[in-house]
Amino acid sequence: MDGTISSWDLSTGVDGPGTRFVVFTCGCPLRCLYCQNPETWRMRDGRRVTADEVMAEIAKYRRFIEVAGGGVTISGGEPLLQPRFTGELLARCHEAGLHTALDTSGLLGHRADDALLADTDLVLLDIKSSLPATYRKVTGGPLEPTLRFARRLADLGRPVWVRFVLVPGLTDAPENVDGLARFVAGLGNVERVDVLPFHRMATEKYQRLGLDFPLARTPAPGPELLDRVHGQFREHGLVSV
Ligand code: SF4
Repeated sequence: MDGTISSWDLSTGVDGPGTRFVVFTCGCPLRCLYCQNPETWRMRDGRRVTADEVMAEIAKYRRFIEVAGGGVTISGGEPLLQPRFTGELLARCHEAGLHTALDTSGLLGHRADDALLADTDLVLLDIKSSLPATYRKVTGGPLEPTLRFARRLADLGRPVWVRFVLVPGLTDAPENVDGLARFVAGLGNVERVDVLPFHRMATEKYQRLGLDFPLARTPAPGPELLDRVHGQFREHGLVSV
């Protein structure tokens, strides 16, 4: 089985517990205004690799990952655009005893079968807004499939970390955050909410690719706004990081 990837990398902090070997798959049906990985948008810009090649690379880091309490995260782009390739990587990592995480917007959650989800120890579910109009403005796509996928993960009892990118003037409205907090608190399987402060570090990447960065003038959220948003999630009994 082969698939298309943009790159792989080691990361610590936001891609699951411990130090992670992260595979960035290529291709994404959304176009988030704040996307940090525009080089992963188009499948044709990636490179074909076999699952064997990816597993051989992971094997080189295996001891290091295990000592650091980490695992493997399949990210993107949107990994569920290539569900068979993603499923095979998750299954083989799982079989090898590695902790597995899937980073997804949930838009294509219907393409993840129950076997793929059984091989996924943690879903990093990016819910970009709780308001359909804001969601569409941020991503260009519909909100409902993500909410449906979130409910399915709850029914299956799969552990989830929700990720929410906080962008001043775009996703920071109190009713947007409150709606998300209420929805997430009602699921029962969400271990934590990662509030990711917007930043402009991808600006140069956009320039290199000849693309406009629509949020080039948007500031990062200040400490007061971050406190308010963490507080809104915590008011609903959630762990907000
Ligand atoms: S879903 Fe992720 S990869 Fe796709 S456009 Fe949005 S932020 Fe970028």
